[in-house]
Amino acid sequence: MAVKDTRTGAGRGLQGITASNSNTRISATRIPSRSASQTATATAPLTSDNLGLNSERPRAAMVQRLQAQGISNDLVLAAMQTIPRHAFVDEALASRAYDDASLPIGHGQTISQPWVVARMIASVCGATMPTRVLEVGTGCGYQAAVMAQVFQQVHSIERIRALYDMAKERLRALRLTKVRLVHGDGMLGLPSVAPFDAIVVAAAGIRIPQALFMQLSVGGVLIAPEGSGAQRLVRVTRTGASSWNRQELEEVRFVPLKSGLQV
Ligand code: SAH
Repeated sequence: MAVKDTRTGAGRGLQGITASNSNTRISATRIPSRSASQTATATAPLTSDNLGLNSERPRAAMVQRLQAQGISNDLVLAAMQTIPRHAFVDEALASRAYDDASLPIGHGQTISQPWVVARMIASVCGATMPTRVLEVGTGCGYQAAVMAQVFQQVHSIERIRALYDMAKERLRALRLTKVRLVHGDGMLGLPSVAPFDAIVVAAAGIRIPQALFMQLSVGGVLIAPEGSGAQRLVRVTRTGASSWNRQELEEVRFVPLKSGLQV
């Protein structure tokens, strides 16, 4: 396979700085996790009783922060304003749902940092919007829900049965039944549905699985974290039947991509 390497240099020189949690960007400048307006709203904790009622403001603050951090895709920003992130985490963590952080979702996994979700989705949107999109690593289903606001057809695979069940339930509760969830090994992709215009991988392997490159349509774009210790987001565009273009983006830390199923 011919892969052309075009490094952007973005996020370089940040080696040695560690993130405290997973599915986050590793950034030299620490961004405060709460804005002033969020701290004010956090005095009224979000619970399932007031779900959606007072989450608009912290969500708007989150979207403003994403814009300040360089996310400019209007569709992505609107989707993140629409989807209630607190509905995808445990009630005890709901008041922190709009912080700029990943949060635990059980089974050793995390909901990705909002910036990571926005960056990954925005980076597969080109002049032509992808139609059929695959997510590897559903987790709690938040990123799939955001993707469903942006793309016509979203498929998402999760290897841990309990998380697959939880995501299904949460998406059903929000009437986001358009997302097609699969309990399976995303390292193998979804050959029965391929090719995909875009593939978003939410867990890091030492190498991006070959099967995923093969399941991209020509012109399609994949984004994935890659590496074991030091990880980086990598964007791969399929430029022809047997050619791909590789671009390295920011330094990140993600949960591991694992093969096989956990039932
Ligand atoms: N998409 C999530 C992030 C979930 S964390 C969000 O909305 O924030 C990454 C997820 O990838 C975990 O739930 C983990 O179980 C899953 N995962 C890891 N390896 C996988 C594989 N081979 N196939 C499918 N899912 C996998």
